[in-house]
Amino acid sequence: MSVAMHWSARSKLPEVGTTIFTVISRRAQALGAINLGQGFPDYDIDPLLAELVGRAMRAGHNQYAPMEGLPVLRERIAAKMAALYAVRADPHTEITITQGATEAIYSGIQALVGHGDEVIVFDPAYDAYAPAVRLAGARCVHVPLVPPEFRYDWDRVRAALSPRTRLILFNSPHNPTCTVATAADLAALAAVIRQHDITVLADEVYEHMVFDGRAHVSVLQHPELRVRSLAVFSFGKTLHATGLRVGYAVAPAELTGELRKVHQFNTFSIAHPLQWAIAEYLQLRPGTGADLAAFFTAKRDRLRAALADGPLRLPPAQGTFFQLLDFSALAPPGDCAFAERLLTEAGVASIPLSPFYAEPPPLALVRLCIAKRDATLAAAAAHLRAFIEREGRAGA
Ligand code: GLN
Repeated sequence: MSVAMHWSARSKLPEVGTTIFTVISRRAQALGAINLGQGFPDYDIDPLLAELVGRAMRAGHNQYAPMEGLPVLRERIAAKMAALYAVRADPHTEITITQGATEAIYSGIQALVGHGDEVIVFDPAYDAYAPAVRLAGARCVHVPLVPPEFRYDWDRVRAALSPRTRLILFNSPHNPTCTVATAADLAALAAVIRQHDITVLADEVYEHMVFDGRAHVSVLQHPELRVRSLAVFSFGKTLHATGLRVGYAVAPAELTGELRKVHQFNTFSIAHPLQWAIAEYLQLRPGTGADLAAFFTAKRDRLRAALADGPLRLPPAQGTFFQLLDFSALAPPGDCAFAERLLTEAGVASIPLSPFYAEPPPLALVRLCIAKRDATLAAAAAHLRAFIEREGRAGA
């Protein structure tokens, strides 16, 4: 007789389903909808990168890379940190290559918190954060960003701290609200944690995508935060190739040591030919990432212009490769229901914001990805305009 198994009954993540990005992408594909949901480009990568990956494999860089990452790649990252942010990071002791930013976030959380610890998370928060905290045995304390601008309420953050708070998860440019933290926000963050034993894990994967004259401010640029933060970055975003799954973490040596203890038993080391190719690419294309702000500003403005004067409003994104769509003039709050209507009636996939909240408020916003060919954005705008027109006729 066999024993009945009940894995789901003792699930470690009982209320977690399949990630919204996968759910929406699958449905978009099944319905033949234009996918502005999951954040990934639909245009070609720089052919040089593809050439370098092939060259790396042909040159025999096909066995395990060093656990902490290829030294030459870490050196080029250190050079970029110095040039872009005037931040000095020791490539040997302070930079670790990870399997995308997601692994850096996951391994970082496992390294930093455990049973009984509390982690401050700003809602709406990227969906990978809370499950990683749960699996570490710790607990999220959710502090909402204040709509409609989704700004930080630092008094509320201060009030949310307890003697058990060990970590703050910070994300700028922010997914999914498309806001960008200011130097004043970082100063406030530093002041809030000054007297406490709290580390900051900063998700800065959209570092190069900040618009309208803004500059990305990294936690690494703030002297007080520099010594107690782990900042996470992504080559997938910067090189328009989300399938690379190569990212990196920058943190003080002692903190990096703790991160690597987890990383070595999680992913061990990251695809060697990809690391080699990216290192070469950074050498051959100095200033990689510098053109992204202009590139995505043009995409954002193209989509906004195509929908101007209609009832779907697009508050200008400050950063990321997303754009919020405010449907309050067209339909009542209920972002999941509206995203479903856009998918099935307009043929455009978007991402509702509710899944990024522990307790979602009534929302009249969905997120669109602008990292798409101009033709894709134009087609999506045409679908949305036709949807609006049908709505108008139905309401008339
Ligand atoms: N970061 C991507 C987004 O926000 C999603 C990545 C994923 O699907 N896990 O759309």
